[in-house]
Amino acid sequence: MRTRPDFLPYALPYLDESEEQAVLEVLRSGWLTTGQRARQLEQDFCAYTGAKHAVAVNSCTAAMHIVLAAWEIGKGDEVITTPLTFCATIEAIEYVGATPVLVDIDPETANIDPAQIEQAITPRTRAIMPVHYGGLPCEMDAILDIAARHNLLVLEDAAHAAGATYKGRKIGSIGHATAFSFYANKNMTTGEGGMMTTNDADLADKCRILSLHGISRDAWKRYTATGSWYYEVQALGFKYNMPDVLAAIGVCQLRKLDAMNARRQQIAAQYHRAFGEMDFLTPFPPTLPSDRTHVWHLYTILLNLDALRIGRDAFIEELKVRQIGVSVHYIPIHYHPHYRRYGWRRGDFPHTEAYYARTISLPLYPSMTDADVADVVEAVADLGKAHRR
Ligand SMILES: *Cc1c(COP(=O)(O)O)cnc(C)c1O
Repeated sequence: MRTRPDFLPYALPYLDESEEQAVLEVLRSGWLTTGQRARQLEQDFCAYTGAKHAVAVNSCTAAMHIVLAAWEIGKGDEVITTPLTFCATIEAIEYVGATPVLVDIDPETANIDPAQIEQAITPRTRAIMPVHYGGLPCEMDAILDIAARHNLLVLEDAAHAAGATYKGRKIGSIGHATAFSFYANKNMTTGEGGMMTTNDADLADKCRILSLHGISRDAWKRYTATGSWYYEVQALGFKYNMPDVLAAIGVCQLRKLDAMNARRQQIAAQYHRAFGEMDFLTPFPPTLPSDRTHVWHLYTILLNLDALRIGRDAFIEELKVRQIGVSVHYIPIHYHPHYRRYGWRRGDFPHTEAYYARTISLPLYPSMTDADVADVVEAVADLGKAHRR
């Protein structure tokens, strides 16, 4: 077996001189926190997604929290989402005092199964939070239809899905509100950061106020020449605003987003071709729905454990020995100690659990070379051969 001389990281941001220059400009301007750059990123993001309004914040978690708070979801309310997500989705629900309700995934897409959403609705249900797992949009028409019939908010967790489309429309312009992440390993990044988008002006206003201490509109201007010293705290808000130093990175990243996603799609196609010929695994998803575009935040394979003498965890360890950085998305929410309080049990979400037991996330990012891709394919193929049952 051949091993790479250097470790191939699981993820890397795609940065060049444009981000460096943009950050320098902000540093030299004397205005480091929320200001013109954050406003520009919001406007650019609206233009890009087709959303009418955008509020830049310092994480996707923050974006989800302020949307639920602005919608006045709280104690006694239920919010439906998926167990195959990052804990942040559930945390946002808990921050407002509401109760998370989980429904299983559709095993063909790893996205929340709309048919099961319908069954989980009670008189207390207030919102649905679909997660576009890996960068593949959920079945939004079915979800929006359920929401309309039951008068529910649809808040999309689009942490993986910047640039993805559903029936020709960009994610961010479809549901009542959408939350994006610009965390360091996401399809576009500001290091830490996030964005909420909506077509609802009232919701956007409320979120903007909540994102900066509950202070009345244009609070950030109070130290500028055109701003006023006077402000009013109108609600219990949060310190979630995005600083201009980071927004400047976001403006550059957004300009490159389509090109970065195109390279992700290219690599995913190479992986799919190569892995499609290996009988000890299934490249995921097995088929791509034709009415949406996948932006491949994650590239995952599902091991056919019956064909192998080693388990998923050992397979990961051997990939690491081969200098390939990998990850797992996600440890199901109900497996975590904190979430025992909701009474979920192993076996409650069989599709999520089966997915978790078999999945490995492989490196996929724009700066990977074709040789890097070939190294990953070769390492996986070698391990499959070495450990075939
Ligand atoms: C990364 C991620 C988040 C959290 O994003 P932050 O910007 O770090 O708050 C939420 N949901 C999913 C599915 C994610 O992958």
